[in-house]
Amino acid sequence: MPELPEVETVRRGLAPHLDGALIEALVLNRADLRFPFPPDLARRVSGRRVLTLGRRAKYLLIPLDSGETLILHLGMSGRMIVERRGEAGALAEFHHDVTRLPQHDHVIFHLEGGTRVVFNDPRRFGSLDLRPSENLDQAPALSSLGLEPLGNALHPEALTALLAGRRMPMKAALLDQRLIAGLGNIYVCEALHRSRIAPDRPAGSLKGREIEALVVAIRDVLAEAIEAGGSTLRDFRHEDGSLGYFQHAFRVYDREGEPCPAPGCRGIVRRTVQSGRSTFHCRECQR
Ligand code: ZN
Repeated sequence: MPELPEVETVRRGLAPHLDGALIEALVLNRADLRFPFPPDLARRVSGRRVLTLGRRAKYLLIPLDSGETLILHLGMSGRMIVERRGEAGALAEFHHDVTRLPQHDHVIFHLEGGTRVVFNDPRRFGSLDLRPSENLDQAPALSSLGLEPLGNALHPEALTALLAGRRMPMKAALLDQRLIAGLGNIYVCEALHRSRIAPDRPAGSLKGREIEALVVAIRDVLAEAIEAGGSTLRDFRHEDGSLGYFQHAFRVYDREGEPCPAPGCRGIVRRTVQSGRSTFHCRECQR
C-alpha cells in the first residue's frame, strides 16, 4: 500500500502536469471505486482548471477553480499515469507488476494540450470524492484525521498532549490515524527504532527528550523516503520500468535476524506481531 512518502512523491510528480491545467474532460469508466463516485462528478470537473495540488496524510488534493476539491486516495494498488501526446509513460507507479491493463484505467483526466492523467487501480480500493474547498477539513475522508506528520503541526508539545495519559502501546498510538495521520507500519517501525523507543511502551510514559527524539525521527524517516522517491522518479523518466515501492534502505523493517544498525548496539532486529501486524525492533537499544 502506498505510504505517505509515496503519495507525496506522486503529488510532486503530477504537479508539473496538473498545476494550472485545464481539465477539458473527466472520463469515468465506472460508477465507483471503493465508494460510489459523487453525483455528477464528470460534469462538475470537466472544463475546470486545477489550482495547486496538495496532500493531506495519504490523500491527494486536487483543488479546482470551481471552488471544489477532488480528494483522491490510491488505495492498495492505485497509480497515477501521465501520458503526453505522442508518448506513453508512467510517472508514478505503485505496483511491482509493470503491466498496466487498460481495463483498470477507471478515471481519465483529459487535459488541454493532449496530456492525459490516468488513475489506474486493479484492486479498486482507491477512492475519489469531490467536496467544497472551503472547510475541506470537514470532508468525510479528512474530518477525523489527526496531525499531519510533515509540516509544522507536529512538534514536541503537540505530541506530548496527544500521548498524555494513554496506555496504548507506542506502536498503536503512532498508527492511529486520529492522532497522527498518514504514518504506516514501515515508518512507525523506523521512527521508533531511530528514537530508541520500544514499540510496546505505553504511549503516556514517554519523557520529554524521548518525545523530542521521536518528532525528529518521524520527520527524518519521511523526508528521507521522499528524497529517495524523488530520485527514483527522476531516474524513472529515463528508464522503461516500474517505480514500484521505493528502493529505500529501511534500517529495521523486514530485517528480522539482522544485526541492529544502531551505532554501538549489539542487538538483533526482532519481529513481533502487534495487533496483527509485524513490528520490527531491537530489544537492546529500544527501551
Ligand atoms: Zn539496537
